[in-house]
Amino acid sequence: MLTDPVCGRTIEPVPIAYHGHHADTTYYFCSVQCRDKFQASPGAYLHPVVPVPVVTLRVQDEPRPRLA
Ligand SMILES: [Zn+2]
Repeated sequence: MLTDPVCGRTIEPVPIAYHGHHADTTYYFCSVQCRDKFQASPGAYLHPVVPVPVVTLRVQDEPRPRLA
């Protein structure tokens, strides 16, 4: 499934009527209005990929088998 980055609507894969390119990536939109809004300011709709801090749960009170 594709998602319109502007309005968040789910787009039917076929037919894809509206699409645009930004930074070598193709984006798909539900309407020409959304495409125009996106192309006017792509940065407003693109969320930079920020590494999410991984919360590691430590098993503290569980004895671990020792290897050698
Ligand atoms: Zn849309």
